[in-house]
Amino acid sequence: MWGVQNIVKNGLIVSCQPVPGGAMDDSSHVVGFALAALSAGAVALRVESSRYVSAVRAATEAPLIGLIKRDLEDSPVRITPYIDDVRELAKAGADIIAFDATDRVRPATVEALAQAVREAGKQSMADCSCIEDARRALAAGVDFVGSTMSGYTGGPEPIDPDIDLVAALRELTPRVIAEGRIRTPEQAKAAARAGAACVVVGSAITRTEHVTAWFNDALSEIYSPAPAPVVLSVDLGGTKTMAALVKAGDVLDTVVFATDRAGSPADWLQGIAAATAAWKGRYESAGIAVTGAVRDGVWRAMNKATLGIEGAFPLEARAFETFGVPVVAANDAQAAAWGEYKATSDRSDLVFITVSTGLGGGIISEGRLLRGIAGHFGQMHDPQAGNLALENRVSGTWIASEAKRLGHGCEPKDVFRAANAGEAWALSIVDGVARRFARLCCNIQLAIDPARIVVGGGVGLATGFLDRVTAEIAAIGPSAAPVLRAATLGAKAGIVGMADLALKHKKNLKSL
Ligand code: ADP
Repeated sequence: MWGVQNIVKNGLIVSCQPVPGGAMDDSSHVVGFALAALSAGAVALRVESSRYVSAVRAATEAPLIGLIKRDLEDSPVRITPYIDDVRELAKAGADIIAFDATDRVRPATVEALAQAVREAGKQSMADCSCIEDARRALAAGVDFVGSTMSGYTGGPEPIDPDIDLVAALRELTPRVIAEGRIRTPEQAKAAARAGAACVVVGSAITRTEHVTAWFNDALSEIYSPAPAPVVLSVDLGGTKTMAALVKAGDVLDTVVFATDRAGSPADWLQGIAAATAAWKGRYESAGIAVTGAVRDGVWRAMNKATLGIEGAFPLEARAFETFGVPVVAANDAQAAAWGEYKATSDRSDLVFITVSTGLGGGIISEGRLLRGIAGHFGQMHDPQAGNLALENRVSGTWIASEAKRLGHGCEPKDVFRAANAGEAWALSIVDGVARRFARLCCNIQLAIDPARIVVGGGVGLATGFLDRVTAEIAAIGPSAAPVLRAATLGAKAGIVGMADLALKHKKNLKSL
């Protein structure tokens, strides 16, 4: 039987429970809140203590859920723990009596409380923490189940309401009351959509102290912000290593040195520690971006020609030992992609590609950096080159080796200088790289359709390179033409992005 529907219509229930001992903790304020809520359309009220239930009952005929809160020495149960509480609330005029229905040490069983409510001629609401509580309470014959106790039986208090529990309760019964941490109209709607017959809102309406504190906390982030933390950020590439101190996106100090390609990951960490020794004590966390694949803090080579790493190296763990602060590791091009994304206010999807010692990239989709091996464009195979990885023919490494093969033992920047001066041998190299890179950009556009492709890296930013790529894209045709942009942070994209990723990670850990 669903006789309870006669008592409470679908809608908003306002819980009028002042902060104990606070300025609103008296009958006149509780009655005031109750009448104000009813005048604005609340379908029922939830009121604590027989004294306040009596006071509100004297002022209105509206449906009333009553409860009594007690702090017991021998039980964690606080909401209507005793049979006598049920009787008192019934006498005071509650229509529905709410009690804790969790499976914990308690003075009276859920069955006994449900029975007492029935004997008093009232209806019952079981305040549950999980689906098992609700199953037991329904078996004991309660009229309503509520999500009230979710998140309050151990562990850190969650921030959001438990909408999943509301949906799960609705699978058991239509007599579901959503309650707990519902602070916004959107959250109330979500609870109703999940199947709640009624939604209880308390603090957000009737606890002035709490609402004031929410606004104050938000404003203090603006008026008296905590000083931005300083991060040691490292970008370890196949040619060079850059380390920097970064604060709120600003690079305070940098040091750049050649990566010792003959060394090992442990040597590189020691090299970075030596180069940044003077900064010790100035940073609280660190981020390290590396060429290759990083998963769960473990580093592996994707292409040993770019940088040779044997097997799997526990980068975050070893870097923590080296620097003595929490360290987050990521792929270098992904970190640079994140840096470029954060560098402008444009929040549309972005693909970043770096043409450097090798060829890498990163993808930002719907504000999220795709991790794992996403963006390793250099590892995609080139069917026109015997299915070699694309990076073998689009990279600084290839430009140098090709120049050597043609009898010009020189650096990529010299090849570019010669190409820009019109020397045929150099033009053949640079135009070949630009053509293959243009095709890659069009393929990425077809696969992901980003709003822009941002290009970085020593080769990607070399004088004339992007102009050549743009000309090649025009020759391919307009249907898959991407919008190309030069990296705004230049060579610093990796360290700026890595610093932000390190902080983001720290914040996430804190909220777990
Ligand atoms: P890493 O690969 O270590 O991250 P870079 O992004 O600087 O470092 O890329 C290094 C590659 O870019 C090397 O092959 C280097 O020779 C080449 N390079 C650096 N500067 C220039 C330049 N001005 N013009 C052309 N190529 C350059």
